[in-house]
Amino acid sequence: KFEKNTVITVFGASGDLSKKKTFPALFGLYREGYLDESTKIFGYARSKLDDESLRSRIKPFLKKIHGDKDNEKVEKFLSKISYVSGQYDSDEGYQSLKGEIEKFEKGAQQPHRVYYLALPPSVFITVASRIKKNIYPENGVCRIVVEKPFGHDLESARELQEELAPLFPEDEIFRIDHYLGKEMVKNLLVFRFGNTVFNAGWNRENIKCIQLTFKEPFGTEGRGGYFDKIGIIRDVMQNHLLQILTLLTMERPVSFDPESVRDEKVKVLKAFAPINQKDIIIGQYGRSLDGTKPSYLDDETVSEGSKCITFAALTFNIQNERWDGVPIIMKAGKALNEGKVEIRIQFKAVPSGVFNDIPNNELVIRVQPDEAIYLKCNMKTPGFSNSTQITDLDLTYARRYQDFWIPEAYESLIRDVLLDDHSNFVRDDELEVSWALFTPLLNYLENPNGPAPEIYPYGTRGPSGLSKYLSKHGYIFEKRQDYQWPVTRPSKI
Ligand code: NAP
Ligand code: NAP
Repeated sequence: KFEKNTVITVFGASGDLSKKKTFPALFGLYREGYLDESTKIFGYARSKLDDESLRSRIKPFLKKIHGDKDNEKVEKFLSKISYVSGQYDSDEGYQSLKGEIEKFEKGAQQPHRVYYLALPPSVFITVASRIKKNIYPENGVCRIVVEKPFGHDLESARELQEELAPLFPEDEIFRIDHYLGKEMVKNLLVFRFGNTVFNAGWNRENIKCIQLTFKEPFGTEGRGGYFDKIGIIRDVMQNHLLQILTLLTMERPVSFDPESVRDEKVKVLKAFAPINQKDIIIGQYGRSLDGTKPSYLDDETVSEGSKCITFAALTFNIQNERWDGVPIIMKAGKALNEGKVEIRIQFKAVPSGVFNDIPNNELVIRVQPDEAIYLKCNMKTPGFSNSTQITDLDLTYARRYQDFWIPEAYESLIRDVLLDDHSNFVRDDELEVSWALFTPLLNYLENPNGPAPEIYPYGTRGPSGLSKYLSKHGYIFEKRQDYQWPVTRPSKI
């Protein structure tokens, strides 16, 4: 169900996020028929652009997935976009924008407006308060979309929230964590609670350990200025990975309505024990072993001698009936040997006696790239042999779902905004608990007397102690010759 005559205004329309994500996502929805023809889009920023120059900035980023058939859609989409130039901190620009919006709405009884703040956090409250003052539709629908970072630590997140709350009620705010728009992340609750077989084993009786891994194969590559102030923990762990973890560990919600789901996410977050600061690994990448790739400190945009953390591994314990005692390892790093985001759940060993040397089952949920879920399990080696070997029950999305359009995360989330569905957005209390969990660790690490990160070579798996750390927390690593991927199919089946 679409609201007719929706007006979407992107603040910071001259910026990087708008060009690469926001406008392309709006186009993706339009291309696939999920943005009503009557929708109007405004871009707002200080830069002196006009309609045409904004359109030509955006155009190269609009994805045509049906070849030339999409050309007409691109042009029609671009013609819906107008640009208004104005300051963020004076009413004048907002009044011009108001005039343009009202021209389009033609006195509609119930305006339907979405304001997307693709802006640095420093101007976020300034813009939010001017929106409220100048262009808030008193008798209509208003939705404000906010981008991370939502604060820098618990205190700043609270301040931000205290300033925002008087302006907009929580049900008008959509805090984007784009990981919540990823297909595999959205699948987690269905996968867990829609399958008795997985639901039954999802607990401390059956699970030995969980690993949640984020790996990037590149470093900051000359663009580390922003990263240097935040580090890997704020960049992906406190937000994206913790969000995945809540969906992976929460209890069954009473229904899939947004508040029931978010209630359960908050509940499980409150059961997390404080992070053990003595039980972490922190690293910063150095030059690659062959000397061809630069170290983090070679990046001229980072501060000299920076102790910024580009790799971290830590272990959670959730103190509730389902999880207490199960090590939940979260690890993330830049400039590693590969790029992936995956959840790896290792199950307990089968009882001893019948089998010798039989590996533990492992369930892998690969969020990106190439969504897949596979369960590594033991089978009899086919033929006369009675020995066992590892194989997998495998769901590779690209093979199984060839005729499906899988939306990009931003496409999915903007559609949720248009449908007023908050399920995949971060609620204020969720934000509070997640910062409360990470802030003591950040304070410890960022104290001038805090620990120095270990240097690991660019292109490796991370700091040298990682394998030992994983095995200390129960993960059994087995590289077996009899397990091959991809499996070549026999010519006759
Ligand atoms: P950006 O390009 O630096 O900023 C967007 C626009 O805001 C700029 O074009 C500029 O427009 C205005 N602006 C920049 N610095 C400003 C300042 N100090 N004071 C006032 N206005 C300023 O940022 P972005 O990369 O698009 O990101 C926007 C938001 O999304 C940020 O909060 C960022 O953390 C978040 N985010 C970005 C990405 C990404 O891929 N880029 C991913 C996730 C989240 P005018 O000068 O024309 O007004
Ligand atoms: P894997 O991807 O090789 O890694 C298994 C785990 O072992 C990872 O958690 C890894 O940690 C860890 N590890 C790697 N080297 C280690 C070491 N020296 N010491 C301790 N831990 C170590 O395992 P896999 O699941 O068996 O997969 C093998 C290959 O088959 C992969 O390339 C996988 O993508 C592919 N495969 C694909 C599909 C599919 O696409 N549907 C299905 C099955 C298998 P880190 O993550 O930190 O490196």
